Amino acid sequence: MARRKLVYEGKAKILYEGPEPGTYVQYFKDHATAFNAEKKATIDGKGVLNNRLSEFFMTGLNSLGVPTHFIKRLNMREQLIRQVEIIPLEVIVRNLAAGSMAKRMGMDEGTPLPRPIVEFSYKDDALGDPLVPEEYIIAFGWASQQDLDDMIALALRVNDFVSGIMYGVGIKLVDFKIEIGRIYDNDFVRLVIADEISPDSCRLWDIESGRKLDKDVFRQDLGDLADAYTEVAKRLGVMPQNVRAGSKPTLIN
Ligand code: C5P
Repeated sequence: MARRKLVYEGKAKILYEGPEPGTYVQYFKDHATAFNAEKKATIDGKGVLNNRLSEFFMTGLNSLGVPTHFIKRLNMREQLIRQVEIIPLEVIVRNLAAGSMAKRMGMDEGTPLPRPIVEFSYKDDALGDPLVPEEYIIAFGWASQQDLDDMIALALRVNDFVSGIMYGVGIKLVDFKIEIGRIYDNDFVRLVIADEISPDSCRLWDIESGRKLDKDVFRQDLGDLADAYTEVAKRLGVMPQNVRAGSKPTLIN
């Protein structure tokens, strides 16, 4: 059997060459890392859950006309995506103060913000993904002013969509990170949402109890991460109730 060509291996995902030119297969691993990979673990079933959850959000966004790299889910851990040229920025949207913002600004976690705030970090593990002002982004040529405006508009549309869906199942979207890439279409360049949208890259708090249902469970040792992600997946109706992390290979369609 021919071996697939590995294109890139990150902390939580692997990209393989796809079956058609211009496509990749994105594989979701069970690895969890935090604090720039200083803390690591393998969480059984996490990859399966994130594959499903990212499919759910990306499909919804595609259907609303918010373009994403997602084409289709292939199996429990893999999805077919379009090749994009990743812009080397983490685009973060915050609705409430939490995480690095709460720390940086001396704010209590959970303080509501007057409006959603979009911020950018430069993707560089060695530097610890530093927060960068828009001036840097333009001056260093990572994106044009037009790209920046488009990235902010895309990020806010994702925020509205994911916040609304989550609110409907009793979960507050506190903040999230997306990555954005370029697709070249003859003379045109389009920006699309790339990477993943999952509890690995969002902060999700249960509205009633305040329980954290995202990667902070792992970062802060608050319990079983797969249980938290399973709860999100169940509420959204994207996993059959009996598929739980740890229940090893179970075929789901
Ligand atoms: O740590 P910080 O508060 O800046 O994170 C903001 C949001 O971006 C959180 O939802 C976090 O999970 C996400 N994030 C991420 N990957 C990173 C940094 C942050 O998904 N490398």
